Amino acid sequence: MNTASTLFQALAASPLAPSQLCRRDFRRAFDRGFTKDKRLRSKNLPTLVVERVKDVVLNRQLLFRFAMYHRAFSWVNDAFYRSVQLEHCLGLCMSFEVKDKDVLARIGRLRTKSGVVETPLLFPVVNPNVQVVPAKRLKQDFGFQAVITNAYILKRRFNELPTEKGVHRFLDFDGVVMTDSGAYQILVYGDVEVSPEEIVSYQERIGSDVATILDVPTGWKGGRTHAEETVRVTLNRAEQFSKTPHRDDILWVGPVQGGRYLDLVAESARQMGELSFQVHALGSPTEVMENYRFDVLVDMIMTAKMNLPVERPLHLFGAGHPVMFSLAVALGCDTFDSAAYALYAREDRYMTDSGTWRLNELDYFPCMCPRCSVATPKEVQALPKHDREQFLAEHNLHVCSAEIKRIKQAIRDGRLWEHMTMRAHAHPSLLTALHKLRDHRAFIEKFSPVAKRSGLFFQGLGDTVRPEVYRHALRLRERYRPPDAARTLLLVPQSHVKPFHKSQEFSRIRKTVQQLPAETHERIHVCFYAAPFGVVPMELDEVYPLSQHETAWPPSEETICYVASEVADYIARSNYDAVVIFTDAEPWTQRVEAACREAAASRKIQLETINFHLTETKEILTRLQLILQQKTSEPT
Ligand SMILES: [Zn+2]
Repeated sequence: MNTASTLFQALAASPLAPSQLCRRDFRRAFDRGFTKDKRLRSKNLPTLVVERVKDVVLNRQLLFRFAMYHRAFSWVNDAFYRSVQLEHCLGLCMSFEVKDKDVLARIGRLRTKSGVVETPLLFPVVNPNVQVVPAKRLKQDFGFQAVITNAYILKRRFNELPTEKGVHRFLDFDGVVMTDSGAYQILVYGDVEVSPEEIVSYQERIGSDVATILDVPTGWKGGRTHAEETVRVTLNRAEQFSKTPHRDDILWVGPVQGGRYLDLVAESARQMGELSFQVHALGSPTEVMENYRFDVLVDMIMTAKMNLPVERPLHLFGAGHPVMFSLAVALGCDTFDSAAYALYAREDRYMTDSGTWRLNELDYFPCMCPRCSVATPKEVQALPKHDREQFLAEHNLHVCSAEIKRIKQAIRDGRLWEHMTMRAHAHPSLLTALHKLRDHRAFIEKFSPVAKRSGLFFQGLGDTVRPEVYRHALRLRERYRPPDAARTLLLVPQSHVKPFHKSQEFSRIRKTVQQLPAETHERIHVCFYAAPFGVVPMELDEVYPLSQHETAWPPSEETICYVASEVADYIARSNYDAVVIFTDAEPWTQRVEAACREAAASRKIQLETINFHLTETKEILTRLQLILQQKTSEPT
């Protein structure tokens, strides 16, 4: 095992990305391994090797090449194919398969030993001591396919009973069971009375489907030295864990720590990602969320995400409230756990997808779940404590479940951004978090789908941060060149009709241009300026999503500033000799014009403005003709 491990560490340490590895790399890795240890020639080699492949190479393409390579070696070939069916191996190796994407969110299939579950997935927390809604009912009545419980509490309170029965029978839950290791207890009580090895072995013995090593949470309050220490200890434990054999039918979670110290989060994620975990988790967000610092949460999630292997699912510990599910999912969190449904119920708090009410503040239930549709807040208030708590817990679970379903549908429809923006209006700190996405838009753009089955809705807030808008700006800078003969830029404001070049307003301009001598036509380049994309060259205005969107009108201040600066920047970096800009009655067009004037001045080229609103149609045509003739008759 160790030699095979060395072999694949050498492989994994290759400077190439896994998908770029080729036969030669395998050969080199193998040769290195073989010279080190002759035992590798034993019959067991392929099984061992494949075991390691599952851990190290979570890449279908690489595994396929790996198998193809072996076909050439008869001495491995027989044993390899005898001991491993490729399909079977692929199945085991790909514990997470992505089916659909939007922003960084993924609808995926997570394969566990108790069955396949679909992400984004919420694990309701089952408290082994006192459980207001029995685990069995969580699946039967609410449709939760997975739950999470605390292995440390199980061990302390019930000791060997769960190992004898197995955690599924112990909880009476036949879905997927994830276990946490006691990290939360470390955060609250400072320490736990169990060693990292003990809690790992305990989770193996109770038969968890997804299990967590004993990490040390960074938390919110401690200083940097404390944070460094938590990262160091957690990483040491993770390395120790990787060196010892463990059950390979369990998905092991490698938690990322570092709290609000982003460089520590990055380092923690990078090193964790190199170890053979199947799932990662972001630790310590609970206190960040309790303090409503969703902006910090955005930074933490994005830093972890950027430094972890993208193909592994990411779990967010303690993400309790449905109001922030869509934000976390959009940033690439695939699974969460929540105890909030029960904790809130205990305190008479009623969750909705846009906030929380105290039961005594409500006159009506804004919900049609099976419980709320047949009761009034007054009636529920009159119930005995236990019944009231159960009522609220059940309602809270329905709200969480419904929100996850809405999010999944939004991912399918390509409308997750719109959904997230709508939810962000529930609290100013969520809006702050939405603005924070600007810092990470390059990464978000890189992994967001290029085409969707629906058009986009721009609602004014955060529009300019959207991956599609950022992508258009990037493409225009990096990949677009105006036609070679173009000397005069004609800037036309967007119309409500799309594509813009088919609008009535534009047809008048086109007709004017057509009246010019034929040889001048190709020296004119028509671009639209549009919210929120900025410059839209006419020849591209039908390309998705430049025509396939609806924008709230008038544009927001943020959008106007963005469009103005994008258009000005386009002029500043282009080679046109002159610019003609059309403005209309809408004030935003004048703002764009002012920015263009500055850009033209800095390039020392002439800029002419024609105001649709103040000029008669006939006069517009004459003026345009004059300007164009003047511009295009000058030698270039
Ligand atoms: Zn309800």
